[in-house]
Amino acid sequence: MIPQHAHYDVIIVGAGMVGAALACALTHAPAPPLKLLLVEASRVQTGKAEQPGFDARSTVLSAGTVDYLKLLGLWQTMAPSAAVIEKIAVSDQGHFGGVQMDNREAGVTALGHVVENAAIGRALNAALSQNQQLELCSPVQVTKLTPHVQGMQLALQSGEAATSVNVTASLVVLAEGGRSGLAQQLGIHFNQNSYGQRAIIANVALSQPHRGIAYERFTAKGPLALLPLTPHRGRHRMALVWTHPEDETDGVLALPDTEFLAKLQHDCGQRAGTLLHVGQRASYPLTLQVAEEQYRPALVLLGNVAHTLHPVAGQGFNLALRDAMALAANVRQSRREGHSVGHSSRLQGWWHQVEQDQGRTISFSDGMTRLFSNPNPALSVLRKGGMAGLELLPPIKGLFMQQALGYHGPSVRL
Ligand SMILES: Cc1cc2nc3c(=O)[nH]c(=O)nc-3n(C[C@H](O)[C@H](O)[C@H](O)COP(=O)(O)OP(=O)(O)OC[C@H]3O[C@@H](n4cnc5c(N)ncnc54)[C@H](O)[C@@H]3O)c2cc1C
Repeated sequence: MIPQHAHYDVIIVGAGMVGAALACALTHAPAPPLKLLLVEASRVQTGKAEQPGFDARSTVLSAGTVDYLKLLGLWQTMAPSAAVIEKIAVSDQGHFGGVQMDNREAGVTALGHVVENAAIGRALNAALSQNQQLELCSPVQVTKLTPHVQGMQLALQSGEAATSVNVTASLVVLAEGGRSGLAQQLGIHFNQNSYGQRAIIANVALSQPHRGIAYERFTAKGPLALLPLTPHRGRHRMALVWTHPEDETDGVLALPDTEFLAKLQHDCGQRAGTLLHVGQRASYPLTLQVAEEQYRPALVLLGNVAHTLHPVAGQGFNLALRDAMALAANVRQSRREGHSVGHSSRLQGWWHQVEQDQGRTISFSDGMTRLFSNPNPALSVLRKGGMAGLELLPPIKGLFMQQALGYHGPSVRL
């Protein structure tokens, strides 16, 4: 598929959750028209979700994210597939008690929603396919990115044609998940810190309804989350994210269903009910990775390529959407004021808006993971103290809840 123009105001590379949501935000009316191209390596079509990020995982969408999705007109397609989180029960394996947070305490109807990635993908793809203000090139891969007098030059390689085409853009938004090495090609470095863990994900069927409770449990081997899902064929379901040391993951993945369920039941306890079935399993390596530069003239990094977080705190996409909404507002403001959308001073303005939110969110999810993953007995005492602290000190619990709700990012008006 050949692009219609030689130059664009904005080209987004990657139509995963983040690139697709940004495309919707940039075309959210009314605004001065923008020549916008979205390039995706997988085929994007209505009714399907073939991009690699729309796999068997589920995502916790914070209340702040749901507000943004409503604003963009995306929520009504996702809502039927969304399970409400009314309570979050945090506990530590081997210790009594724990922390409970609930929606009434926070003064909201939901602390968040859980949606299967495939349903998020279908909603986004339907919106992209119907979007008249957007040119979509898929399946097309960006193979090279070079600084250019007009901003950036991109080499596009269609999945169907052997030839490659060059286009330029005043601003390129890399939202390719860190999958293609384009940022590295430009000499951008990453701070990487492996957790030495993998996350096993699967859907599980239980003997009882989840009653809107999300369970977060910390075990000596790593954190475990069981998240509410909408029922399927009359089955009560929850989405599992279960971390294991790197070298133990393959063994757990390969267990027969009954042994897998018995091991999981041991780790998560009985509070959610008896585990009856487990669906398709997959695993993901867990690394905290943050790009050392998230913008340059005519370039912004968004989503996983900018920051990849441990999934247990459910913050990766929520944070990336806040970054994307702030960027969309910045671009639209530049257009209204007649500035180039890729000018470094404008992008620096965006960075100043999101930097603090990123720092806080990354520290929160990393700190929580490290504190609750370590089997060290001294840390176990601290963990117990931490739980009690959360219960006893409303301001600390309030901060924890605020992070879960996702309302602390920059205030954005499109
Ligand atoms: C187990 C797990 C659970 C998680 N749970 C949560 C959660 O509950 N809440 C939360 O907020 N976050 C969660 N996350 C994080 C969340 O999944 C990510 O933040 C999010 O998927 C990042 O999306 P992305 O669009 O940046 O990248 P991707 O999903 O990787 O999308 C990148 C897209 O770019 C395309 N692409 C790649 N290279 C090229 C190229 N050269 N040219 C064109 N296209 C290209 C790819 O095909 C792909 O479609 C979780 C992560 C994991 C691993």
